[in-house]
Amino acid sequence: MTTIQSLNLQHLNAQYAQELKEVAQQVIDSGWYLLGNRVATFEQQLATYLEVPHVVGVANGLDALRLIFRGYIALGVMQQGDEVIVPANTFIATILAITQAGLVPVFAEPSEETHNLDLTTLSQYITSRTRAICVVHLYGRCCWGEQLQQLTTQYNLKVVEDNAQALGATYTLSGGVTKRCGALGDAAGISFYPAKNLGALGDAGAVITNDAALADVVRALGNYGSKQKYHNLYEGYNSRMDELQAALLSVKLKYLDRENQIRAELAHNYAQNLSHPEVILPQIGVDGELVWHQYVVRTARRDELQGHLAKCGVETLIHYPIPPHKQQCYPQYNHLHLPVAEMLAQQVLSLPISPLLTSVQQGQVIEAVNGFV
Ligand SMILES: *Cc1c(COP(=O)(O)O)cnc(C)c1O
Repeated sequence: MTTIQSLNLQHLNAQYAQELKEVAQQVIDSGWYLLGNRVATFEQQLATYLEVPHVVGVANGLDALRLIFRGYIALGVMQQGDEVIVPANTFIATILAITQAGLVPVFAEPSEETHNLDLTTLSQYITSRTRAICVVHLYGRCCWGEQLQQLTTQYNLKVVEDNAQALGATYTLSGGVTKRCGALGDAAGISFYPAKNLGALGDAGAVITNDAALADVVRALGNYGSKQKYHNLYEGYNSRMDELQAALLSVKLKYLDRENQIRAELAHNYAQNLSHPEVILPQIGVDGELVWHQYVVRTARRDELQGHLAKCGVETLIHYPIPPHKQQCYPQYNHLHLPVAEMLAQQVLSLPISPLLTSVQQGQVIEAVNGFV
């Protein structure tokens, strides 16, 4: 029996092998590997795709977020010790970016239905130290709404989007204007980790913003804190996207919408055919607002279901089994009790939703889930 994998990166990238090899060859032959035209070109292409003025290529998604927070501190918009409201059921990197910038994460409960920040209860977390809300578009589902905009205006807060998982998703604002995730808030961090919807062949990330001053500081921070060689304005980092990854990403960006479309079709097919009474399916939501980075079901018997699926040859993953506030690296937060986030960590299971999943394979997954006893 061959196992149905969550995502096979070899097969995924083999689709574009010819083009990827061509541009890789060009970079190798050019002798220019950092701070060059290919990064500038990819930044421009992504800016056009997202309809935003500023894109800064960085080394990875964690750095993108960390540089945004460090940038706001350098600009005097935030100070060490200020609070950032953040969903408690996110990947650890969101929290690392906040604490490593010297800011304090305030863990907020997600909604059971969307797994995203519960916007209806958000105001309870606001204090005099709150400076920002970090929304995470988890599993590729856009997290946005009127309540969020209202709060940020009322309390003068920045919205930082963790858009590692929802590149390509859109949201239509009340005025009728449609924007892409990453272009909704004040700044966004993107990850091009190989398994993301737009994956590099290594690590890469980007900062997105409509704020020229922030873009300028972030670019300097990622380059040793310097705008002019050997003149250091900030205690910076070495966090740059390299030319090879930029060239590869320019190729793959062309296919992002098509792959997201396939993911959406797979999600609709799951929604129509999964029918186990104990397995709760993700809401399908508004077209375009989800790019289905993961298809996450939940059940009280999660570990049993995962074991059953493994026996049926279906690989599944858990995003994420331990919430950040319960991690060993954050003893100061271990006492916190966030019942919804903790329940989700016990119950979520990600089914395969690779753009390469065939209908036969998806049928096998559906049959295996429906046959769980
Ligand atoms: C992947 C991911 C990150 C971090 O991105 P890296 O490029 O792996 O550093 C941050 N937040 C979320 C929600 C992610 O899924």
